[in-house]
Amino acid sequence: MDLKGKVAIVTGAASGIGLGIAKRYVAAGAKVAIADLKIEAANAAATELNTQGPGEAIGIAVDVTSEAEVNKGVADVVAKWGTVDILVSNAGIQIVNRIEDFAFTDWKKMLAIHLDGAFLTTKACLPHMQKQKSGAIIYMGSVHSKEASPAKSAYITAKHGLLGLARSVAKENGTFAIRSNVICPGFVRTPLVEKQIPEQAKTLGISEEEVIKKVMLGQTVDGEFTTIEDVAETAFFFAAFPTNALTGQSLIVSHGWHVE
Ligand code: NAD
Repeated sequence: MDLKGKVAIVTGAASGIGLGIAKRYVAAGAKVAIADLKIEAANAAATELNTQGPGEAIGIAVDVTSEAEVNKGVADVVAKWGTVDILVSNAGIQIVNRIEDFAFTDWKKMLAIHLDGAFLTTKACLPHMQKQKSGAIIYMGSVHSKEASPAKSAYITAKHGLLGLARSVAKENGTFAIRSNVICPGFVRTPLVEKQIPEQAKTLGISEEEVIKKVMLGQTVDGEFTTIEDVAETAFFFAAFPTNALTGQSLIVSHGWHVE
């Protein structure tokens, strides 16, 4: 399996998991658009990936909550490379607070980035995939697509919601051979998680070490973080899978934190 010549858009790919996926796709021969709010970081990542090959990368400025920016970003990629074969809807943030302290503006912001972003990018990419009768759409869920934890209501609601969207996309697009799946990682040490460690310690009234050992890794089988490479490999598998058999699914990559 490889991605030679395939065109991919990965949102939130200037950092963390998205960047790892962009790297893996370029190594597999894909042309990758690194779509992010942070255009300078996206361009820097693309420049670096272009030295590694054999695929290639560009940075594109996209706020996934803006329909106009998403549509323009996808149109620019199609103008440059002709189509879109793979969409990875990965951009995301985290805001932690108990529900009674959760600002409504924060709730709406979380749902906008995770759910509106997934919907808008899907809507913009689907016509190109339908035209060519092939495509792979991958949503970045989380163990929190399956489980709940305290102080993360908006994130958990949004990540559960992505399962519904992915299943709907799969059912609507089988005849176009467009596959739609969700990756559900456990904790990965990216900037998103580094920021959470002191915040969770404060919200839960425990030390930062306890947050890592008990809250983040306490239910894994080996006390280890999932890595960016683990998630990138899963994203490669979903993108490169050769038939339409693998669609409408979610795969948990979490060192056994959640088993089903
Ligand atoms: P990260 O903070 O390293 O990267 C997130 C990227 O998304 C950043 O580059 C940021 O600029 C971008 N972004 C944020 N809002 C955006 C917007 N409106 N439009 C476009 N880009 C935007 O975080 P990460 O840990 O790599 O997270 C990536 C995804 O993986 C998220 O959806 C997150 O929920 C999910 N996830 C992370 C973990 C983890 O432990 N790190 C676990 C499970 C799922």
